[in-house]
Amino acid sequence: MKEHQGILVVFSGPSGAGKGTVLGEYFKRCPDTVYSISATTRPPRPGEVDGTHYHFLSKAAFEALIDNGGVLEYTIYNGHYYGSPAAPIRRELEQGRDVILEIEVKGALQVRARFPEALSIFVMPPSFAELRRRLVGRGTETEEQIRDRLLTARQEVAMAADYDYIIVNDVVKDAAARLETIIKAAKCSKKFSQEFIKEVLEDA
Ligand code: 5GP
Repeated sequence: MKEHQGILVVFSGPSGAGKGTVLGEYFKRCPDTVYSISATTRPPRPGEVDGTHYHFLSKAAFEALIDNGGVLEYTIYNGHYYGSPAAPIRRELEQGRDVILEIEVKGALQVRARFPEALSIFVMPPSFAELRRRLVGRGTETEEQIRDRLLTARQEVAMAADYDYIIVNDVVKDAAARLETIIKAAKCSKKFSQEFIKEVLEDA
């Protein structure tokens, strides 16, 4: 039996839904999964480290990356480029490791079109009131930025139904446990097992 490829997981949800916190908890449970470090032209927030949270690039460097086919997908979100560097993702998948892309909805659409076997998961806040409370509590955005993010969030949540799975982030530990279950189940799905079924039939 050939080694299985890793599964590509697209993980989206509005800013403030707690994607990062849920993923942090998930990685404690499943440390072999790889988090794809995106490139962005947005400036770092306090505490964010280049090469850990994002690769922080200039606009020119990001555009060069696009021109060289270096991103699997990219988008402009709130005026800044965001994209998933292709080479490390392909390498990790080939080595059998699961890779999680924490990306917004337009990028997710591009990934799903290019990789139909990808698993897509959308994280929802329990309510918009809770989302607002979390964004204010984070204290990293101005009132105007929060308004923008809530507007964007409304458009993003409208696309949740296009994803394979929805996770409501009510209690972080529970949400992370559900994420683990979903990824495990997806690896047994027919969508992800097409290649394996072909291989077995070839040997029959
Ligand atoms: P933030 O500025 O809050 O870190 O991220 C803003 C949004 O961009 C979030 O929804 C985040 O998931 C998304 N994002 C982060 N990296 C990427 C990426 O590489 N590609 C796309 N399409 N979206 C990304």
